[in-house]
Amino acid sequence: MAGAWWRRWLSRFDPPQIPDSLWRRTLTSCPLARRLDDDRQHELRRLATQFLARKRFHPLAGAELDERLRLLIAMQACLPALRQGAVGLRGWREILVYPGEFKVRRSHHDEHSGVVSEADDVLIGEAWERGPLILSLADVQLDLEQPWDGYNVVVHEMAHKFDMLDGAPDGVPPLPEEISRRDWIVAFQRAYDHLSNDVARGRETLIDPYAAEGADEFFAVTSELHWSQPGVLKRADPVVAALLDAYYGPSPAPC
Ligand SMILES: [Zn+2]
Repeated sequence: MAGAWWRRWLSRFDPPQIPDSLWRRTLTSCPLARRLDDDRQHELRRLATQFLARKRFHPLAGAELDERLRLLIAMQACLPALRQGAVGLRGWREILVYPGEFKVRRSHHDEHSGVVSEADDVLIGEAWERGPLILSLADVQLDLEQPWDGYNVVVHEMAHKFDMLDGAPDGVPPLPEEISRRDWIVAFQRAYDHLSNDVARGRETLIDPYAAEGADEFFAVTSELHWSQPGVLKRADPVVAALLDAYYGPSPAPC
């Protein structure tokens, strides 16, 4: 029958499904996903299925990845895409995974002196525009063990990925219609200026001072707080907290 033939033909393009036993086993290791309601867990599984089918994992320097660890990375990468859907996962393909922190050599060209200097940065994660997502496996595992400490490297790097969907990172990802771009820019700029001022004066801050490195880092660091410690973000800046709530959907965190 023609109908059955078409269904068979179309099913060739369905991504391979995540087996139930693997999904349930992995869900118990990922508190952020485990605390989502049934509807959002269902959507997360749909996004993670597409993510695993379209992205390519490359373990480097002896990192060992099994299907459970791949799924744990996919799950956390898709959490921030729950509201915006698969469109947020577009534009790149490769995930490089190191066993722990990794070194990156950067060269800096000073326009005034003409001097080019080289420096090694030690990183736990990095996201390139239209390029790979790079992760330290040790830090991914630490986030799973300490889900509510305010940090999550996968969420951080995915926030950069969303930010770069419309070009160079500037702390303003493509926004859904219900969020005003102007409101976003005003609120984030004010909160960023406030933090930068506190950091410059050496004051204690609720938001990690690393967020004062730039508007892009401010968005990535506050995204981590939204998923991992939303109560702290709300105390630090309720307006930014409300915007991230609208952008990502409610946090599953207990506090
Ligand atoms: Zn960053």
